[in-house]
Amino acid sequence: MFSMSVSSSWFRSLLPILFIVAIHIGMGHEIFTQLSNSNVLLNLPYVLLFTALAVAQIFKQSRMGMLAIAQILAYAIIQLRLQTPLISGSTLLELSLLALLFPISCVICYAFHDSDLFTKEFLYYLIIQCLFFVWSLLILDYFNQGDFPDLFTQLLSSVPQVSRLPFILFLYLIVLSGITMLLLLRKNRKLDAIVYTSVLLISDVFVSFHMPHISSILFSISGIFLVLYVIAAGHEMAFHDRLTLLPGRAALDHTMKSLGRHFTIAMIDVDHFKQFNDNYGHDTGDEVLKLVASKLRQVKGKAKAYRYGGEEFTIIFKGKSTEEAFDYLESLRQEIQNYDMYLRNTDKRPKSDKMGRLKRQKDQPSNVVNITVSIGVSDSRSSRNPQEVIKSADQALYKAKKSGRNRVTV
Ligand code: GH3
Ligand code: MG
Ligand code: MG
Repeated sequence: MFSMSVSSSWFRSLLPILFIVAIHIGMGHEIFTQLSNSNVLLNLPYVLLFTALAVAQIFKQSRMGMLAIAQILAYAIIQLRLQTPLISGSTLLELSLLALLFPISCVICYAFHDSDLFTKEFLYYLIIQCLFFVWSLLILDYFNQGDFPDLFTQLLSSVPQVSRLPFILFLYLIVLSGITMLLLLRKNRKLDAIVYTSVLLISDVFVSFHMPHISSILFSISGIFLVLYVIAAGHEMAFHDRLTLLPGRAALDHTMKSLGRHFTIAMIDVDHFKQFNDNYGHDTGDEVLKLVASKLRQVKGKAKAYRYGGEEFTIIFKGKSTEEAFDYLESLRQEIQNYDMYLRNTDKRPKSDKMGRLKRQKDQPSNVVNITVSIGVSDSRSSRNPQEVIKSADQALYKAKKSGRNRVTV
């Protein structure tokens, strides 16, 4: 079963489709006619998309900034070039080129990393946009000289009952919307959601191009989505730890305010981690933290994991007592203990005795290590105040360390 929360992939895929259906049903409504009589509707996409661009810069979400650029350019081309009937001159060809290149402009942002907008990567993206533009001009020039092969003219034929857009491009847009939707359903990252939403909404602009004001309306909606997703991505960045991708301390503080009456808190600390770093290097240490985080994420019993700081993590079980949470934590401890970590850099041999012993456990090949964690647990029966419960879980953790590590102590 899928959960239908606002951040679920199903919700994110269905929402733009609902908008498209609603727009097509309400198209003849007076409100659109009134809006379009003023210049408000015409300029709204620019306002929203430039806002998205500015917010993307604030939150260093350059890939969402790229999507904003692609849409600003596409909308400008539509407003400046394509306001003549499709049958006149090269209008249909220009629309076709745009329909071909726009989804590509959206999808190639996957090839980049998120960063500031004033970087080389962003410049490369702009250069790619320029190349698309020049290529389109060359094609148009070729067309205007009149020596366009018949095959191409046939390719550009449409099925008017479906759309005025060439049928082959109609299929192309459906396929690309489908692919981006599948990616969203599989990965459900914010970037997947906004790439899919942009491709789908703007595809509908091309497909329904004969409808009045369709471009202003759909680019505006797409602009609103983009602004919202950039803000959501910025929020996620502030509340999530970059290394482990778990929610961080700020998110934990937030959750602690709404824990209810019954809850259990577990504090998890990696054993001898300082030594591990000293022996295998900080990067391998980081890999260990990612591994521990991935195991914490899989803990059952409606557990929610956080990175408390450094090599310390917190798990909160809402509505559970220590007895009810204990088995989940004990399987977590065993799971981590039994996990063989293969080191890439095998010539780094352990320097200390303790690590040597750790490494040689169970006659392992020399590039395999195991790590362990100690866990301290306490619940809301010790105190109603979550801060106090954390303190008492910390004391239990201290006991676990004192009595030999690699154990769960209540
Ligand atoms: P104990 O078993 O008593 O917990 O010993 P310990 O060495 O794990 O504890 P200690 O608090 O002395 O050391 C924690 C180490 O965790 C120190 C620090 O170098 C390391 N550490 C903290 N954050 C990170 C991180 O993000 N990456 C890496 N690689 N190491 C980290
Ligand atoms: Mg520690
Ligand atoms: Mg430790």
